[in-house]
Amino acid sequence: MLVTMTYNVKSLLSLIGFLLFCQSVLAFELETVKVAKDVYALVGETGPRTYENHALNNNVGFIVADQGVILIDSGASPSGAKLIEQSILRVTDKPVKWVVNTGSQDHRWLGNSYFKQKGAEVIALNSTVEEQRKHIETHLDRLKNTIRENAIDVKPVQASRVLKEAKNQLNLGNKQLQVIFPGDSHFPGDGIVWLPGERVVFSGDLVYVDRILGIQSYSPVASWLQAFNKMANLKPLTIIPGHGSVSDMDKAQKQTGDYLAYLITGVKKALDDWSELDETVIALTETADQFKNLQNFDSWHKLNINRTYLQLEAVQ
Ligand SMILES: [Zn+2]
Repeated sequence: MLVTMTYNVKSLLSLIGFLLFCQSVLAFELETVKVAKDVYALVGETGPRTYENHALNNNVGFIVADQGVILIDSGASPSGAKLIEQSILRVTDKPVKWVVNTGSQDHRWLGNSYFKQKGAEVIALNSTVEEQRKHIETHLDRLKNTIRENAIDVKPVQASRVLKEAKNQLNLGNKQLQVIFPGDSHFPGDGIVWLPGERVVFSGDLVYVDRILGIQSYSPVASWLQAFNKMANLKPLTIIPGHGSVSDMDKAQKQTGDYLAYLITGVKKALDDWSELDETVIALTETADQFKNLQNFDSWHKLNINRTYLQLEAVQ
């Protein structure tokens, strides 16, 4: 009898051990990529936002300065922010001094409260702060469906340092960065962070690689291409895109700049030729071979043509 019980307890303990092991193996982690001296990308998943990835299907990143860490984007919730903090702590024990928000989508800023209560200053462009306000209710509702109980302690804390210029120079100790408004893109009012010394850009949702970008009803496609070209004029060596792996300019050009140009040029020609919306969608899907390997092509491309058509038709 005693032997059986001992055996059962033993097997139960080994089962628990095994389950804990599985959990630790399966636990979501951001991939840390060093892109320059003291500059790191934290790369999220390219798939959908999920409970397990804390809605972190995007990239954030950080810069280690003398006096502390500058975090670029804070995740979608305090639980996601904690995950970001753990990744930073594997590189440095310096505290997060600044959090810069590049955009208004939830996973760019709803982790702000976590870092603010630890003493960080939150910084963003005025245009970003205004846009964040417009989407907050929708983003919170959507977030509750994805991250469930982890959404309970989400507190929308916006920047206390609001940048008014189109180009803002910021220095923290030995590190210099510029927060730039290149023009409206995926979300209107989004900014980019440019490190002139390292020639690294944190593009936020201005650049998508590996997965296809999404034209939303609020994404002004013509302006997005202009904003992309402004970023390209900086001639960055390295791009930490909003979504997808760390890239160079060539890859960003092929997968974001050229794609936007393809949509705009194709739709403009279709409108000039009096083509109907549905025939334009068919034609621009048939000739889109160079983009077909991008993740989500099948679910997003037709919608992107559709929205581009409606936007460009309205200004014709
Ligand atoms: Zn995004």
